[in-house]
Amino acid sequence: MALMPVDKALSLVLDGVEPLPPELIAVATAHGRVLAADIAARRTQPPSDMSAMDGYAVRAADVAQAPARLRLVGESAAGRVLETPVGPGEAARILTGGVMPPGADTVVIQENARRDGDFVVIEQGERPGRHIRRAGLDFAEGDVRLACGHRLTVRDMALAAAMNHAVLPVYRRPRVAILSTGDELVLPGAAPGPGQIVSSNGAALAAMARAEGAQALDLGIVPDRLDETVAAIRRAREWGADLLVTTGGASVGDYDLVQDALAAEGMALSFWKVALRPGKPLMHGRLGAMRVLGLPGNPVSSYVCGLLFMTPLLRALGGREPAIETESAVLGRDLPANDERQDYMRSQLHWRPDGAWVATPFDVQDSSMMSALAASDCLVVREPHAPAIKAGHPCTIIRLPL
Ligand code: AMP
Ligand code: MG
Repeated sequence: MALMPVDKALSLVLDGVEPLPPELIAVATAHGRVLAADIAARRTQPPSDMSAMDGYAVRAADVAQAPARLRLVGESAAGRVLETPVGPGEAARILTGGVMPPGADTVVIQENARRDGDFVVIEQGERPGRHIRRAGLDFAEGDVRLACGHRLTVRDMALAAAMNHAVLPVYRRPRVAILSTGDELVLPGAAPGPGQIVSSNGAALAAMARAEGAQALDLGIVPDRLDETVAAIRRAREWGADLLVTTGGASVGDYDLVQDALAAEGMALSFWKVALRPGKPLMHGRLGAMRVLGLPGNPVSSYVCGLLFMTPLLRALGGREPAIETESAVLGRDLPANDERQDYMRSQLHWRPDGAWVATPFDVQDSSMMSALAASDCLVVREPHAPAIKAGHPCTIIRLPL
């Protein structure tokens, strides 16, 4: 059977995915959440013309000639509005954030003025309108400053609060259950017996999912047994997982039971085996409302499949644009022609003084090698059947921030 192209597999994974239902949350807890509506300012900021400095509110015409001696009519401080107008020959003390009193059109900073009892001597003139933050400088009531589908940074959260939103509509976070399978696996910190290895996939995938804003439940390790695998699949459904991600047991070996267990529970298979390296045995299906991604056990394959398929799916469920960003770079070594599988080569990235980024794939691309993956900065993407390519030619990369 021909392997499924990566693009086709990804479009099947994203097919029919709708953002999860919105919910209202307190603005202070909204960092990293995805807006389920455009957010417009509920007020104008600044609400009136305000001083940007500590000094004196004056009429520009009065300070055209310095020094100028002006009579003080009062004080305007942040939160304390001065109603008294500033007439010709007059000034008001003003502090940062103070509302401009009627009649005044300019602020002279206090470093350029000298207080003299009820008077102030302006020692240096100022151009009209100086040091004033105009009403609406930041935003005006009704302005949309945050768009639906945007994932909120700390700065966006602060902006939403300033726009007077106590609560925000956001999409519910996707719930991802992660199951590691394999008789040989033990948890980190355990004493592995003969032939056993330490499981790393569960922790990595849970962290990757959380970085995308999902809630992750690590179901731990199950041995290669049908009944235990079925029981774990049921736990994922009982927890209300939107997505179950399994690792291991995905290939054609005698102990690769994950697909059998899922089929026994009624999964509708969407695809199995993709023209992908690493990650050929990738599997996808649906079990009721729960989507399923069956990833290979090799840690590098599991990471790459998580990045290429779990991440876009979580983004789409979470109301975001799903695409993984690619960039271009310059290849740091010669590469032979590629076969029928789309390749994601673990590579290091160096900045060249002429401004180019140079991506150099590791010599050995074994999908079990965690240290090469950890030392990588990016994946070099090679299309199926790409011809041999020389160092110095352009290539496509995916940066690995995680
Ligand atoms: P499998 O897909 O079950 O055939 O596993 C492929 C390889 O990945 C085997 O060498 C497994 O020992 C290894 N492997 C499977 N699961 C994990 C895991 N959770 N962490 C690290 N290695 C794993
Ligand atoms: Mg296995």
